[in-house]
Amino acid sequence: MKTATGWMIIHNGQLVDGTGAQPLRDGAVVVRDGRVAYAGPASRVPETPPDATSIDARGGTIMPGLVEAHFHPTYFNVANLEDLDIKYPVEYVTLLAAANAKLALECGYTSARSGGSLFNIDHWLKKAIENEIAPGPRLSTSGREICGVGGLMDWNPDFRRIGMEGLVLLVNGPNEARAAVRKLVKDGVEWIKTYPTGDAAAPDTNDHHTLCMTFEEMHACVATAHNHGLKVTGHCRATEGIKNALRAGYDALEHGTFMDDEALEMLLLRDVPVVPALQFEWASIEHGPALGMGRKVVDGHKETLEGGAESARRILKAGGRLGMGGDYGFAWNPHGDYAKELSFFVKYVGFSPLETITCATKTGAEIMGRADEFGTLEPGKLADVLVVDGDVLADIGILEDRARLLAIVQGGVLKAGTLSLAGGRSAAGRP
Ligand SMILES: [Zn+2]
Repeated sequence: MKTATGWMIIHNGQLVDGTGAQPLRDGAVVVRDGRVAYAGPASRVPETPPDATSIDARGGTIMPGLVEAHFHPTYFNVANLEDLDIKYPVEYVTLLAAANAKLALECGYTSARSGGSLFNIDHWLKKAIENEIAPGPRLSTSGREICGVGGLMDWNPDFRRIGMEGLVLLVNGPNEARAAVRKLVKDGVEWIKTYPTGDAAAPDTNDHHTLCMTFEEMHACVATAHNHGLKVTGHCRATEGIKNALRAGYDALEHGTFMDDEALEMLLLRDVPVVPALQFEWASIEHGPALGMGRKVVDGHKETLEGGAESARRILKAGGRLGMGGDYGFAWNPHGDYAKELSFFVKYVGFSPLETITCATKTGAEIMGRADEFGTLEPGKLADVLVVDGDVLADIGILEDRARLLAIVQGGVLKAGTLSLAGGRSAAGRP
């Protein structure tokens, strides 16, 4: 992705730099050639050339672009598990993924890490974004998701003879797990997404206390992936599945729902980040029944919401790392709602807005393995900046409202936001 040339000054707003530091009341960011040259008090802004572009934050907030840490560009309006795999052909899913990536950028997400992909679309979507063929967040890719035969993601009965050609690679034993990872290495992905445990979505045979892969299969995934420089994550709800993942050497956990003291200790020892995705649970409980979600499934989501919220609180309190990502792309939890995750953590889980924003910026970049490039507004980093009309620390819900996003800047280029709609560069006058 190209970075801008020349200078940009973003001023007249509080600066929330993403490091977790308290906000600077009258802050400014100076960008030179697509990178942050200065981030600090407006009173000490260095001299800039007269042709520098200027963005007026209107007394609002200047902060790093958000990182969606559990993004499924290829999921779209999923109402049943079956919708995930056999609803549309690869051609149409590719177009949907491109539209979802554009939407995420317009929602203030300048980066995203995938939580699993249909076909091998993430990899090619990333290429299209990097080559500026399609707009979207800087992407950290996953490929098809690995699950044990008979596990959560193996829902088609054998008599249908359908298989899981779109989303999942089903494995039986460590040899097949190794073969699946090797296929994904060839596909070019960065993350191996696995299913160590079940979920409330499948209460009869693969609920949230069920294991869907053996430790041997999980360890084979990690050994093969790490050998090729790839990272491994997994859908981890059941306590034993979380421990298996941590013992096997996983690089991140999705959900991390039911953590006992031993699991938390293991997590902290290796400082493994967790992406809880809790708004999804709440949305399932709130909107699922109207979409035909059964009572057992809803009850299961209540249990995983409670367990997940409690684990998130304990992880934060103990100094662990959490990413903000929300499994968007379901009928009851659609694309575009990404920032609802942040509001949920403030309103229901009890995080402060500043803690939540740090998780959604700095930690997100760390999970992507690119914390030295973006995630905070510090000199030398890529100028991925979100300019918001309003005080996000007083009301984090402002981030849900795209009309309040003045500018979404990626590598110093104004890509989206109301100022870009008003005519791009011309909308931003001289200081
Ligand atoms: Zn997911």
